[in-house]
Amino acid sequence: MGRQLGLLIDRRGQVRFVIVGDAKSLFLPDLSEWSVAAPRLRGLRLVHTHLNGEGLNDDDFTDLALLRLDSIAAININPEGLPGTVRQAHLLPPNPDEALWEELAPTTVHQLEDDFLQRTQELEREMARALGGRATVRDDSRVILASVVNSQNAEGWEESMAELEELANTCGLNVVDRVIQRRSRPDPKYVMGKGKLKDLVIRGMQKGAGLLIFDRELTPGQVTAISEFTNTKVMDRTMLILDIFAQHAYSRDGKTQVELAQLKYLLPRLGEKHTAMSRLTGGIGGRGPGETKLEMNRRRAQERINRLERELARAAKARKTRRERRRQNLVPIISIVGYTNAGKSTLLNALTESSVVTEAQMFSTLDSTSRRLRFPREREVIITDTVGFLRHLPPDLVAAFRSTLEELQDADLLLHLIDASSASFDGQMRDVEKILGDLDLLSKPRLIVLNKIDLVPAASVQSLCRRFKLSSFSDAVPVSALKKQGFEDLLKAIETVFWSESGKPHERMPQLV
Ligand code: GDP
Ligand code: MG
Repeated sequence: MGRQLGLLIDRRGQVRFVIVGDAKSLFLPDLSEWSVAAPRLRGLRLVHTHLNGEGLNDDDFTDLALLRLDSIAAININPEGLPGTVRQAHLLPPNPDEALWEELAPTTVHQLEDDFLQRTQELEREMARALGGRATVRDDSRVILASVVNSQNAEGWEESMAELEELANTCGLNVVDRVIQRRSRPDPKYVMGKGKLKDLVIRGMQKGAGLLIFDRELTPGQVTAISEFTNTKVMDRTMLILDIFAQHAYSRDGKTQVELAQLKYLLPRLGEKHTAMSRLTGGIGGRGPGETKLEMNRRRAQERINRLERELARAAKARKTRRERRRQNLVPIISIVGYTNAGKSTLLNALTESSVVTEAQMFSTLDSTSRRLRFPREREVIITDTVGFLRHLPPDLVAAFRSTLEELQDADLLLHLIDASSASFDGQMRDVEKILGDLDLLSKPRLIVLNKIDLVPAASVQSLCRRFKLSSFSDAVPVSALKKQGFEDLLKAIETVFWSESGKPHERMPQLV
């Protein structure tokens, strides 16, 4: 026929697919459902013909790698239609040379003395050993981070990737690789170039990665296209953040807000195709939006959104009543704001010796928490912890979390806590100030507090403090929430905001209206 012929053969030697190609290539069928007997390799090998004496080519190796075929064999057919040389290749377990496959010495069909089954089983055992006893090659908790960097304007991508990695760690993920591609603009369908994506899949397979996270927002079409092409679960930055929110929201209010944000983000992405959708909504380890069923259609999602919004409105009213009751006490309210991981919860705990959860992870606080803080002279303030701020917080999320930040409107003083040990604290500080501006909070008295000074050389602490002199009350105050250093100065600075030297309350003290 002048066409290539291919057979996909299972481990029992049964032919499962017969494929007819053209003179130069074959198109393999969708094998995504085919993972029956083989956790590591596909359980199918491809035996096919080559008509022009050519060896195994790029297409062959790509099929081998992307489809995780047990092995691939090309049989040369001479002009008389008789079989001659056989070339075979199979995948390799992770190895120092990072070689993905190995090609066996060519032989002829008449001399083929290969125990295919034994070789494949040995290979799988070796792969399992190399993967440290994990059950499968792909593991959802092993992740590759991907970024497409604008080749003309590459500013800030490193920081952004570092933050993405921190977010992934917060989520309990293990980052096994990072892939960066510079392009003048992202590919509309695959974001990266197809070749780079292929590369990425191959590296991912070697490192056992089962999840791909892009450092940007992806359109629904892109998620589907990339996950179909790579056969891997795909997430974007927003989904990751939502997933973290979902893990860390603990109050009823917080949970409602998170679920709402998730549904709103997912709604336009709920397609007709269930596979793509559950890949999308599965989150990490199958966490979906709140307790909601993953397989939901648009109408149900919209209904649920409406219900949650009503619930939130009711909750906001209840919060307002609570706040008004507190307002009557005329106790000043101080809110700690700051970039996520700045040490807000640690500071609140240390100052009040209470025990709000702190974690070496971002976002351990989603809900604000209030505590009473007593000063030496029987003075009292209420101090509250807030949800962490974050760069590139997607607009949908800002809206959804606005109500968490709503109670900042009541604060008489904002403590802007800054992680002085972070390489990017400048940018973080600007981001926080920007959000405060968006929330119309810049007119409130603010104190800059530089945290984690135990990690910073003393000399630079001083100059930083002068540089961040922001309010008329004082320079920035250096503290270490962890080591409980600098608290005396901090309390003094707070006191001067509300009380004068002689002990008389300033007009900044809350007044009865
Ligand atoms: P939040 O997101 O702002 O509430 O941050 P956390 O209070 O949860 O703190 C984040 C991490 O920073 C935790 O691992 C803390 O132990 C750590 N941390 C907080 N304050 C300090 C500090 O003064 N010095 C050091 N070295 N680490 C701190
Ligand atoms: Mg916190």
